[in-house]
Amino acid sequence: MITGSCLCGEIRYRIEGEIREGVSGCHCGQCRKVTGHFSAAAPVPWDAISVEGTPRWYDSTPGKARRGFCATCGSYLFWEQFDGIVYVSAGSMAAPTGLRLERHIFYADKGDYYRCDDGAPCYVDWETGEEIVP
Ligand SMILES: [Zn+2]
Ligand SMILES: [Zn+2]
Repeated sequence: MITGSCLCGEIRYRIEGEIREGVSGCHCGQCRKVTGHFSAAAPVPWDAISVEGTPRWYDSTPGKARRGFCATCGSYLFWEQFDGIVYVSAGSMAAPTGLRLERHIFYADKGDYYRCDDGAPCYVDWETGEEIVP
């Protein structure tokens, strides 16, 4: 089981069972703005997570995807596409998570001030599977 919270503790969650897919780093323009760097999140079925407190939701891609954060402290916690899966920010999880950052996506859109050389594959986007050598 993994637990986590926002910075101020108003929003807390518990994840039952295992997270299978691991953490993805997303370097898209939206994730860069919302996190201040790039996002790191793992997919969890909504069925497996219970949330205490009420996140504020921002329709980052209206009708397609939204982002949940704490209205008090601003912590960015959730991203979802209304398909039953929520991507939970890895930085909000309490250790030990047992997770690993497994891939970088939208690496083509990353900021120009850093490079990821952690050995995880870097993909141009999310869908095509085309890789970039960082
Ligand atoms: Zn908070
Ligand atoms: Zn992104």
